[in-house]
Amino acid sequence: MSSAIPFSNSYVKLPARFYSQLSPTPVAAPGPIRVNRVLARELGLDPDWLASPEGTQVLAGNTVPEGAAPLAAVYAGHQFGSFNPQLGDGRAILLGELVDSSGRQVDLQLKGAGRTPWSRGGDGRSPLGPVLREYIVSEAMAALGVPTTRALAAVSTGEQVFRDRALPGAVLARMAGSHVRIGTFEYFAARKDTEALQTLVDFTLQRHYPERGDSDNAALALLEEAIARQASLIPQWQLLGFIHGVMNTDNTLLSGETIDYGPCAFMDAFDPETVFSSIDQGGRYAYCNQPAIAHWNLACLAQALVPVLHDEPEQAVALAQAAVDRFGELYLDSHSRGLRAKLGLDSEQATDNSLIEDLYTLMAAEASDFTLTFRHLADLADSAGAAGQDIAELQPLPASFEPWLARWQARLAAEPLDPAERQRRMYRANPVFIPRNHLVEEAIAAATDSDDFGPFHRLVERLAEPFTYTPTDQRYALPPEPGERVYQTFCG
Ligand code: AMP
Ligand code: MG
Ligand code: MG
Repeated sequence: MSSAIPFSNSYVKLPARFYSQLSPTPVAAPGPIRVNRVLARELGLDPDWLASPEGTQVLAGNTVPEGAAPLAAVYAGHQFGSFNPQLGDGRAILLGELVDSSGRQVDLQLKGAGRTPWSRGGDGRSPLGPVLREYIVSEAMAALGVPTTRALAAVSTGEQVFRDRALPGAVLARMAGSHVRIGTFEYFAARKDTEALQTLVDFTLQRHYPERGDSDNAALALLEEAIARQASLIPQWQLLGFIHGVMNTDNTLLSGETIDYGPCAFMDAFDPETVFSSIDQGGRYAYCNQPAIAHWNLACLAQALVPVLHDEPEQAVALAQAAVDRFGELYLDSHSRGLRAKLGLDSEQATDNSLIEDLYTLMAAEASDFTLTFRHLADLADSAGAAGQDIAELQPLPASFEPWLARWQARLAAEPLDPAERQRRMYRANPVFIPRNHLVEEAIAAATDSDDFGPFHRLVERLAEPFTYTPTDQRYALPPEPGERVYQTFCG
């Protein structure tokens, strides 16, 4: 067993006003919950050591390992549209950075590690439920191919956390390309700290977009790349029915990874207005609003970068505006490519948009299960094939779909693509297993109320292969029964 985490820290080398150095607050009785062994190996870490008593002490924040440089980062952010000039890691502590097996530098952060100077009224802790939710959903997203922060491990604290009731506490060890957020730029912009802005631009460009590192205008290069990554990320959410729930600018990473799995949820029955988060009363972050909100958030980033985009403010604003204006086109391009893949359309045709729109209209009218409807289409893509019609049996399509199905089949028949190959591709574009809310809630309830982590482990393991249907796991594929439906999610 090797104990060393080979830290290679860079954020701590930034000026002192970027963070506060402090150690996690130890907890009473750390216990292992789960180690992500595959991810550990990709990071060059020994999973057995992470699961050992010594590793558990480190993951709980009770011992600070050699080479770590723990800190809480400052940031600001627009929350539900209003600017908060002072946020910061209130319950997450960056233990340090390491280099993964592909040479990428990544953050190792402990979420729920105790109070920091930016905890405000909060306790710096996390209940078990939100830790398990983030573990399940972020790892499911990774398996679905969506850029995301990762869960390296979860540990229990042996302490209680008080919310509306006493709950068991836990800490999540989270990995991210970095935790630089739009809100980090907004923090320094709000303080007119142009020097810090430039430093942050250079740091972030080097970290995430080194190929643009020698650009004449680093801030513009960074803005363009950040826009391109969001324009590729958000379509992936839309195509999976993922609703983030709290798309504040402090929850938008410059790395283009999904972060903050607080009130998130996957949509079951298709309804574009779907909102799950209990705190999103106006529906600002509803499913159908996510692309426009991402665009709005990027405008906040552009605004924050104005002082470093150009010496002439007017020119800076023009550059910012032109960059942000590209979002719509990039988004649509990526989204329609994804939709064509989901429908098995190899080529692009003028009538595709109406074909797709009509499908969505039908799905909304029938409140069809978003995931299984697309999976059902994959089943139908090769009528002569031997591949399963499992979903067809589980989730028949209503009769109202028939005229649409005939149009779709005719559209497919006009393409030379081999049906078996088309179906193979559609199975890769349309998952059968997603982290359905009722299953996530069931896993959280069993762990929280009965100390039974079996449902959590089984769910994590099942979601690691979201594109491969196994009939024995049918219950993980099915939408909730009316009595199991989850209408609201809560932040931890
Ligand atoms: P979020 O809504 O999860 O993005 O969190 C918004 C801000 O509140 C961040 O600065 C968090 O660090 C902080 N925060 C959330 N929960 C807590 C807590 N229990 N204790 C201290 N700070 C918290
Ligand atoms: Mg957050
Ligand atoms: Mg959160």
